[in-house]
Formats: sequence, C-alpha cells, structure tokens
Amino acid sequence: MNAGAPVLRFAPSPNGRLHLGHAYSALLNADLAARMGGTCRLRIEDIDPQRSKPALIAAIVADLGWLGLRFPEPVRHQSQHMAAYRAVRDDLIARGLAYPCFCSRAQIRARVDTDGETACDPDGVPLYPGTCRSLDPAHIAEKLARGEPHTWRLDMAAALRCAGRSHGYVAFDETGERRVNADPARWGDAVIARRDVPTSYHLAVVHDDAGEGITYVVRGRDLEAATDLHVLLQALLGLPTPLYRHHPLLRDAAGEKLAKSRGSQALADLREAGITPAEIRAQLGFA
Ligand code: GLU
Repeated sequence: MNAGAPVLRFAPSPNGRLHLGHAYSALLNADLAARMGGTCRLRIEDIDPQRSKPALIAAIVADLGWLGLRFPEPVRHQSQHMAAYRAVRDDLIARGLAYPCFCSRAQIRARVDTDGETACDPDGVPLYPGTCRSLDPAHIAEKLARGEPHTWRLDMAAALRCAGRSHGYVAFDETGERRVNADPARWGDAVIARRDVPTSYHLAVVHDDAGEGITYVVRGRDLEAATDLHVLLQALLGLPTPLYRHHPLLRDAAGEKLAKSRGSQALADLREAGITPAEIRAQLGFA
C-alpha cells in the first residue's frame, strides 16, 4: 500500500449471521478499495457483550472468506479496546461535555409521555428530555459512589458550544463529491457510553475510524443520520473526518430492508443451497 492510499473498512457487528445486504456492503468496500488503489480493512464491532458471540465472529470471517474477500491483519476487535474507549469517554466527561444518566428506558418513556413530547431522534427513539443533565453534583457523586447503573450522555448544547454549530462532511459516489451539512442536534443528548461498557457504537466507530486511518467510510443508508453525530464527535476529539458514502439498502421481495432480525436468508443458507460466490457477486452487480 502506498502512503496516503485510500483506506476503507467493513465493520460488521457479530450479533447474527451475515446476509446478502452485508455481502453487498463488504463487496462494495473491497471493490472501491481495489479501484482506488487502496485497502479495505475488516473491523469486528463486538462491543455488545450479550449479543456478540465468538461463534458468530468465526462465521462472519468464514462467510467473507467464502465470498473471496481477504482483509489485512490485524483485524480489530472492538471488545479488546475498552480501555481506549474509556479514555475518550473520560476526556469528554472531564471537559464537561458528557453527564451520567440514571434513567431507565421505561422512565424516559414515561417522562416523554407526560410531557406530551413526541420529538424523536433519527432512529425513532424519543429525544432524551434532559432529566439527569441538571442533577445536583453532590447527588450525582452519591449515585456514582453507590454504583447506580448509568449511561453517559453527550451534553449536546455544550458540545455545540465547544465545537461550533456548523458541521458537515464530503459525500462521494460515482458521480463525484458533494458537501453535506450535518445536523447533530437532532440526536439530542445521545448516549456515548452504555451501562455495561464504556462506549457506544458512535464513540467507538469514530475513535476507530481515526485510529485505523480510514479515509472513506462506505456503509448503508440506515447509518446516514448517524454520520451527523459522528462529525460532531470528530470535531470535539480533534479527529479527521473521512469521506462518506451511504449506499442503498437491499430489500426483500416484500420491499422490506434485509435484516437479521427479520430472518433474512443468511449467506450460509445460500451457500448450503448450492449458490456459488460468483453467483452472489453477479446478483449484487460485482461480476
Ligand atoms: N457495526 C455496524 C453494523 O453492523 C456498522 C458500522 C459502520 O459501518 O459504521 O451495522
């Protein structure tokens, strides 16, 4: 690889078997990397200790190998880097940009219902009403000392004051590049660290994209809105912003996007049914 060559990545979460939608994303990343004279890395986004199973990670690697994809070593496993994520989280806390939230999901729902508020983040989750943002510091210290379960939330208003209000990134596709304005505020006080691990998807992905020198992020449209939050985190943490491409999601015959949760056919099932990698590539337009 040349210095300065493009670096892309495929970053699955091992909470199910890969389906055709993953195959499309992985092949697109590998294809673009090859065409741009760069590399495509594999990253296992296994921060969820309940859902990430070693057998699923092995299956992902096997499915990608079967498709003919090879990735440079070492493959990053996020579960092995919790100390690094904790340090980033703690930096945001020390700078007054994140606060502990002791609310359960049910409490947040109840509060939102009482307030009659319906504003939701781009994932459809009601915006956090900010209950814990103004807790008395002594009360917070007491709760933390008692070991009360809590997430850590970005104080969006403080973050925007710190990083400025104007954010954006460059989106690219076959037709060229264009500037996109980001609106991180629509995520409200987003969770940057979960209860069980010192990070969330957002914090870990931003940290790792920078750490692995990723220059082009190519992922599904379901994550397009998340990019708005990612560019804000990059600004807060002094990290570079890669170029982004959000590809269409594959749909099934009923027009629903493919998803593990909907039992979309796994690559392994297709393999067992005698479909070849060449047929899958052809079907997805990579022949
Ligand atoms: N791990 C995420 C997923 O499987 C993708 C993350 C990304 O590409 O930024 O949906």
